Amino acid sequence: MIQINLKKILLKPNILAILEQLQEQLKIEISICDTENNYLLGQDNSAFTYQRPIEIEGQVLCWLQSIDEKAEIIRNILNFTLQQEFEKKSLAKEILEKYEEINLFYDLSSKISTCLKVEEVVQVIYKEVKKLINVDYISVILVNSITGELETLITGRDKVTKKAADKNYLGIANYVLQSGNPEIINDVLTDQRYSPGTTQFRSLICAPLTIQNEIIGVINISHPETMTYTTSDLKLIVSLTSQIAAAIQTVQYYEQLKEYSQTLEQKVAERTLELENAKYELEKLATIDQLTQLANRRKFDEYLLYEWKRLKREKLPISLILCDVDYFKLYNDCNGHLRGDECLRKVAQVLQNTIRRPADLAVRYGGEEFAIVLSNTNGDGAIKVAQRIQMAIEDLKIFHPLSTVSQYVTISQGISSLFPTPTNYPEDLIKMADLGLYQAKNSGRNCYILNLLN
Ligand code: GH3
Ligand code: MG
Ligand code: MG
Repeated sequence: MIQINLKKILLKPNILAILEQLQEQLKIEISICDTENNYLLGQDNSAFTYQRPIEIEGQVLCWLQSIDEKAEIIRNILNFTLQQEFEKKSLAKEILEKYEEINLFYDLSSKISTCLKVEEVVQVIYKEVKKLINVDYISVILVNSITGELETLITGRDKVTKKAADKNYLGIANYVLQSGNPEIINDVLTDQRYSPGTTQFRSLICAPLTIQNEIIGVINISHPETMTYTTSDLKLIVSLTSQIAAAIQTVQYYEQLKEYSQTLEQKVAERTLELENAKYELEKLATIDQLTQLANRRKFDEYLLYEWKRLKREKLPISLILCDVDYFKLYNDCNGHLRGDECLRKVAQVLQNTIRRPADLAVRYGGEEFAIVLSNTNGDGAIKVAQRIQMAIEDLKIFHPLSTVSQYVTISQGISSLFPTPTNYPEDLIKMADLGLYQAKNSGRNCYILNLLN
């Protein structure tokens, strides 16, 4: 009920003048006292038998007392004046409320449009709505778009959190979801649909959040005391719901997009790693001999050319050893191909273990022939490597009864060594080593021959 300051109105000079004139013309005196018997005008007078109320909207504001019925004219005029005053004030209050609502709309829309998380949206709503409505606690419960059920609960006061909604406490919210109609419940304890959860409240406004006729959730505004909310509170909340729903949907899209782009980024990273691994494996396959796991002929060609150029620039020597297993055909014939393969693996292992410098490369050159590229190594150095290999092969003691050189597997080696120059080529190095190998075979096998060009 709008309060009117009676005394202030009655003592306004023009009102006072009218009242005095009327009293004079009617030849009566009046007094006015409020409902608590305080005299606002005139005094208590036992001769005043006329006493009538002045009312607005059924509520007594004050009492008019006088000597007789003639005072009824004054009462009518006062009633009219106070009614005018009341209406003026009501109108002013209504305008103020509308102004505050417009302000709220403005504040809410500008603030929620900057939110990136649904919790932030709910928090802004709480803070803004609290300016106009008696709200202690807010919650928004969102529908899962696939199951159609209320699922996600965003709840709190100044601090809002998100979690899965407990289906046991969604009685009223589910009802509003089904009916699509907002509700005010001014004492939830009298409502059969209510089941008390962890948050205690008595008054509740629950309204659906709708976008293009589809309900995406409900909003609850609650208070621990009964009879907190009015229909104008409900109207206000309902008028905000479409704005709230749109903001929530926008941040949901944003969150989904963020999540999607994160998974996409992760997938791209995983795929890139897979591709890199596959590329690495392919490169390895292309340059590694599968039987012995040594570098293959392709790698040899690339590497020899690369080192050739480098050593030519640096004016350093390069050596090459070509090794060939002696009487390997007979070994195969005698032991079978699988044992032959096993023998080649062991020989390869010896070669790999014999080279010591990072720039040296052991290669399966083809069949039972191997090559060793020795960068920055002269003929003497290459001979030392060849000797180590020969001894290590002997130490393997792979039984070879058909060999005429030894009872064990042996190898013959051709060695070449030179300084790369603009006038010689990698092929020269290979030819000389090949010649050395041929000579070693002819010299009885299980030996090495070095050929130098310069
Ligand atoms: P020499 O002492 O003159 O080198 O005689 P050899 O028998 O070793 O030479 P030959 O060129 O006559 O035979 C080479 C044999 O090596 C023939 C082939 O069956 C065998 N060989 C080549 N590659 C492989 C392989 O990957 N696995 C096996 N088990 N044998 C191989
Ligand atoms: Mg051979
Ligand atoms: Mg051979």
